[in-house]
Amino acid sequence: MKVAVLGAGVVGSATAYMLARDGHEVTVVDRCNRPGMETSFANGGLMTPSDSSPWNSPGTMKRLGKMLFDGHSTLKINPSAMPSIVNWGVKFLANSTCERHKANMIANIRIASLSLETLRRIRKSSTLNYDQTTSGTMRVFPRDGRMAEFVQMCREMQEWGVKFEVLDQEQILEKEPCLKDVIDRYIGAVYFPDDESGDAHKFTNEMARLATELGAQFLLNTSVQEIVKESSSSISHVRTSKGDLRADVYVLSLGSYSPILARPLGIHLPIVPVKGYSVTLSLNGWNGGPTRPVMDDGYHAMMVPMGDRLRMGGKAEFARYNTKVDPKEGRRVLGDILKILPAMASHVDLDSALNWAGLRPMTPGGPPLVGPTPYTNLFLNTGHGPLGWTMSCGSAKMTADFITHGRVLSNGVVPRDYAL
Ligand SMILES: Cc1cc2nc3c(=O)[nH]c(=O)nc-3n(C[C@H](O)[C@H](O)[C@H](O)COP(=O)(O)OP(=O)(O)OC[C@H]3O[C@@H](n4cnc5c(N)ncnc54)[C@H](O)[C@@H]3O)c2cc1C
Repeated sequence: MKVAVLGAGVVGSATAYMLARDGHEVTVVDRCNRPGMETSFANGGLMTPSDSSPWNSPGTMKRLGKMLFDGHSTLKINPSAMPSIVNWGVKFLANSTCERHKANMIANIRIASLSLETLRRIRKSSTLNYDQTTSGTMRVFPRDGRMAEFVQMCREMQEWGVKFEVLDQEQILEKEPCLKDVIDRYIGAVYFPDDESGDAHKFTNEMARLATELGAQFLLNTSVQEIVKESSSSISHVRTSKGDLRADVYVLSLGSYSPILARPLGIHLPIVPVKGYSVTLSLNGWNGGPTRPVMDDGYHAMMVPMGDRLRMGGKAEFARYNTKVDPKEGRRVLGDILKILPAMASHVDLDSALNWAGLRPMTPGGPPLVGPTPYTNLFLNTGHGPLGWTMSCGSAKMTADFITHGRVLSNGVVPRDYAL
């Protein structure tokens, strides 16, 4: 079949690879000059099924008011974004009950775990270079933090296959000696042995390379202007800045821009853009930093080693489609990391930091939108929020299975025995 994938972010590129592997004739359309140039460009790089708890957990909702009015908070709502998020916000709140939150967390874990298994299979058959780490991640907790609450949540996730270990100070230092100067700050840590990390932009281009080797074509510098319907149940073609594109099946993977192209078809996707920041430093051979991703739960800060670079980041800001980089935010992120890794200041050129901002395509519940639409030849693979890199291979596999084998999951949760 001829399949057109709209969007060459990490989700679209992984989908293109899976579809090409199934023998389809795949064309990918993207407005940028390379795959993975928008939200998949400089994200946190965490490949973490352990992060599957959606943001609207009952505990977070209790702290929401305080977070919005705290100047140092990692959550901000720009007043201009308010009207565009009211409906979404109501659904976000509706998903914050214990029951809904747990159901969404399980759905996330299953897609993320399928993703990791799928990625490991791909690595067995193809060499992939994307500055990956495969030795787990660690979340460290300050003494006055919420470690007990977090460990309780880990126990719930464990039922669904997320492994974890609780570490004391000594065990933290065995894994990450770089924390020795600040170890007294921490009461303990949770270590997730199965988590991984890597550069999502490099990975996206690796997926595009593998897809191309299987015959997929990438139409870059090409904007999708309209998805044109033939009838109330079928798409006829896609109008692009370089002419019409016809295929048997279309996959919508335009990240935060998916709702804009879907709306004229009468499909209202509950996805809003949530801005986030990252800072990337070249380490120039300095190896005094962490060897695996470390998250500080007190500062809401993360440090992710990527080859000879360190990626740091955080923050969630509702600011519509504004991707402007605020250097103040970069300085705030760096400032927090220097409190954890003070030695870095004298070894690394902090002025060379690359500041970046991107838009997470967030659904109100958490899980992405993967599957069929009222149009028999239009499929969704979008709305992956803060976990798009983590879930990319899993939701790509599900999408290819829908298209190739007509395999549809009725309640959206990937069963434990989903065959790879
Ligand atoms: C600061 C930050 C940190 C993050 N950290 C992590 C993390 O650690 N782990 C994790 O799993 N996830 C993380 N995420 C989330 C993750 O980056 C996203 O979920 C993921 O990149 C979304 O991928 P996508 O392919 O759906 O979207 P995108 O990467 O945005 O891809 C969509 C593509 O569509 C193209 N496009 C859009 N409109 C059009 C159009 N009209 N015509 C043609 N092309 C178009 C764009 O050019 C783009 O290439 C983070 C996000 C941010 C912002």
